[in-house]
Amino acid sequence: MILNLDPKFAPFQNQEEIKFQSFTFSGGEPHIKINPDFDPNRKVTITHRLNSFNDLGLLCITVDALRRMDVKIIDLFIPYFPAARQDRVMIPGEPLSVKVYADIINSLQLNKVTVFEGLGSFEDATHVKVTKADGTSEVIEGKNIIIATGSKPSNLPFIKLDKERIITSTEALKLPEVPKHLVIIGGGVIGIELGQVYLRLGAQVSVVEFMDRIIPGMDAALSKELTKVLKKQGMKFYTSHKVQSVERNGDVVTVQAENAKGETITLEGDYSLVSVGRRPYTDGLNADKAGVKISDRGQVEVNDHLQTSVPNIYAIGDVVRGAMLAHKAEEEGVMVAEILAGQKPHIDYNLIPGVVYTWPEVAAVGKTEEQLKADGVEYKAGSFPFKALGRARAGGDLDGFVKILADAKTDEVLGVHMIGARCADLIAEAVTAMEFRASAEDISRMSHAHPTFAEAIKEAALAATENRALHV
Ligand SMILES: Cc1cc2nc3c(=O)[nH]c(=O)nc-3n(C[C@H](O)[C@H](O)[C@H](O)COP(=O)(O)OP(=O)(O)OC[C@H]3O[C@@H](n4cnc5c(N)ncnc54)[C@H](O)[C@@H]3O)c2cc1C
Repeated sequence: MILNLDPKFAPFQNQEEIKFQSFTFSGGEPHIKINPDFDPNRKVTITHRLNSFNDLGLLCITVDALRRMDVKIIDLFIPYFPAARQDRVMIPGEPLSVKVYADIINSLQLNKVTVFEGLGSFEDATHVKVTKADGTSEVIEGKNIIIATGSKPSNLPFIKLDKERIITSTEALKLPEVPKHLVIIGGGVIGIELGQVYLRLGAQVSVVEFMDRIIPGMDAALSKELTKVLKKQGMKFYTSHKVQSVERNGDVVTVQAENAKGETITLEGDYSLVSVGRRPYTDGLNADKAGVKISDRGQVEVNDHLQTSVPNIYAIGDVVRGAMLAHKAEEEGVMVAEILAGQKPHIDYNLIPGVVYTWPEVAAVGKTEEQLKADGVEYKAGSFPFKALGRARAGGDLDGFVKILADAKTDEVLGVHMIGARCADLIAEAVTAMEFRASAEDISRMSHAHPTFAEAIKEAALAATENRALHV
């Protein structure tokens, strides 16, 4: 018996499928009705295609609800999800995150890293005090020290975050219920990703954004397509709206915002997510005791070698300038390790890709059209829509496109912007090509397996070369 949670995912051959009669949320609880002839004593295999990690929440809730209905679940099959993780969704009372944390600690120990749990604060340029949860402390000496204290959510000065109904992304990741109406302040990556998670779980979602488009840091064409797709899915947008107040009264949160014409709109929800960016985090670090300079923007100041104002102290990740991304932090960590080992590494920050984990996924690397225009660079653009792609048509993932921007004279690829299925993975090809300074024609002449999503990159490169895309 196979229980298919995803209508788009066909059951396997020779396997029986039962479908939900209905699947609704109210009061944060999933209400699942299955066909009346279904016998809960029959053993069930659940399959669910995870389009992204966002879907995991829905899956966990559903598995939990089915267990409470005494459905005997004997197996769980999640295509595309790492085999080693599949069983973890099934472990009652043990969230996936706990296991991931345990695995990380394990891996650190295997690599001979000693972990001290507590708040680290500088005593001087070579000593860090670690204050533990029980109040005890110890001092560690280091010839070299790396600051990697990350970031925390920013807020607007007039908003009082109560962390229950007026929340940040931290609380949004573990809400006790699915909101009826989630009002999101800030249409950046985090707001939109979390917004789509709750939209899928059944919430009404409204996004208020100060700029004239969502994901404003990315190419405008990506914002436009993502807005179109999310609107189709039911998300509501109030762009060019400046939030003026956020008030809570019992279970009701009222958000007021002013539009470009100076008119005030009022949105009432049961939760409001404030996702207006993140700020570097150095609270409690006592950086001044070591002589480490912090900029006016709260970032630890570093040079091109990620060295702070104190030569033996380095800083990496969200706490320094640049994109707040995990893989950027990772590159910087490796860079400092290599510097300390006497090597001469280099990071090309222009080639750090950015991804939005919605479905469809959004991904980009290099310059946007807006940046090229502002810099006065002459460029040509080639786009290819997913709806003309064999693999996308076969899977029904028709939204999106790949756009390649290339230098008008040299044909060197300057930026690649994409939205569609699997774009988070596809962007790696663009990064590789740009790292080797490929031209659009170079990419267009490379064989891409058929049918794959990656063919959209070849086709967009053909379009950018001389408008020679084959399948439009
Ligand atoms: C909701 C959300 C979704 C995200 N999704 C993505 C994504 O999909 N892809 C991506 O690339 N990035 C994503 N990011 C960003 C990514 O998480 C960060 O860029 C990345 O974690 C930065 O790494 P870091 O090491 O600089 O800081 P962090 O990972 O934040 O680690 C800093 C650590 O330092 C600890 N710390 C702080 N001060 C002290 C102190 N004084 N003593 C001891 N410990 C201290 C903190 O508790 C924390 O554990 C997301 C962020 C959020 C909030």
